[in-house]
Amino acid sequence: MTVVFAFRPTRTRYTPFRIEPWDTTIWRLYLAILPIKVVGHPALRTKAKKVAKVDRHVQKLLDDMVDTMREAPGVGLAANQVGVLQRLIVVEVDQVVYQLVNPEIVQSDGEQVSEEGCLSLPGYSGAVARAAKVVAHARDRQGKLLKVAAEGLLAVVLQHEIDHLDGVLFVDRLVSLASLRYQPVDVEVQEIKL
Ligand SMILES: [Zn+2]
Repeated sequence: MTVVFAFRPTRTRYTPFRIEPWDTTIWRLYLAILPIKVVGHPALRTKAKKVAKVDRHVQKLLDDMVDTMREAPGVGLAANQVGVLQRLIVVEVDQVVYQLVNPEIVQSDGEQVSEEGCLSLPGYSGAVARAAKVVAHARDRQGKLLKVAAEGLLAVVLQHEIDHLDGVLFVDRLVSLASLRYQPVDVEVQEIKL
């Protein structure tokens, strides 16, 4: 008998699965949780390419990204964070899910400073100054043009995720290095008998 110790973060929890309009398609018959890349992975520092065509492969990736974001749990995820260099982000704020293709900030106003963290920098948080209000243009999962006007948390998350597509992390935008905090992610030991 061999005993193997595996570690997993205790904060991981499974959010109840909710039925969304797109769950009725054949591509939503199962959940797919993708591994999230952490700092040090080159995809996090590389500019993602524009998506030329929104096809079923892009839609499947967007759906997998929503599952991955919810499982983490997080409020936003960019394709770079799952190692895919395409301009795709997913965001869930106030129970509204945004699946955005080629998102672009076309207008920004004001300033807000808030505490940010990132699934790709586990345990780290810091104060970041962002625009208070933004307007973003993107395409939706059907390829249709979409305009998102956001403020508060939604505006912060959109700016954070769009930064990821350009290889920019929140630690690049800290109001001061002194605001950077690190709190180790709790781990628990799980015994697996083979
Ligand atoms: Zn992030």
